[in-house]
Amino acid sequence: MEIQVGNSILELIKGDITDISADAIVNPANSSLMGGGGVDGAIHSKGGPKILEECKRIRETEWPDGLPTGKAVITSGGNLKAKYVIHTVGPVWLGGFHVEAELLKQAYRNSLKLAVSKGIKSIAFPSISTGAYGYPIEEASQIAVKTFKDFLEKEGKLEKVIFVLFSDYDLEIYLHVAKQIFI
Ligand code: ADP
Repeated sequence: MEIQVGNSILELIKGDITDISADAIVNPANSSLMGGGGVDGAIHSKGGPKILEECKRIRETEWPDGLPTGKAVITSGGNLKAKYVIHTVGPVWLGGFHVEAELLKQAYRNSLKLAVSKGIKSIAFPSISTGAYGYPIEEASQIAVKTFKDFLEKEGKLEKVIFVLFSDYDLEIYLHVAKQIFI
């Protein structure tokens, strides 16, 4: 499904984010930036060691105690088709009483802002926090789609944002939410 939002296209598809040819893909990393499971593991294994080397440098220079939840940093894409990887840390779901919603919004917003500041035109996102971090996808998808709508309506520099869902079930949920919010 493709939706025109301001000057940008928001696309929702099923797929593997490591296969996407966009200027940047977003990695739902953990604050160590040293790799992990899920999307993070897949990005580092397909992208090769260059990404991890750059993450180590970011830790040494900018974030010695780790990247805080909601912030975003950028590295090259190594061997991936994407030129850049934007690493952000989504919140761990702790029952919804710990500002998880605000932190999830910040993870999306700060990734989008960083992309714009680097002149990136196309960017692909996975469903941040809804894997190992346990955020209920019904709630996370509402926050994700609303955050994109608000951002893209005001900021016209991104040409395309692609939401890459990993299963039919996840795609169905995001499509349902997108239809509610846009139509
Ligand atoms: P988090 O730790 O932020 O929860 P995960 O990587 O564990 O991140 O999962 C985030 C979401 O990405 C989950 O819905 C998971 O099913 C999905 N996912 C896992 N691998 C991929 C992939 N290669 N491409 C796109 N989405 C993926």
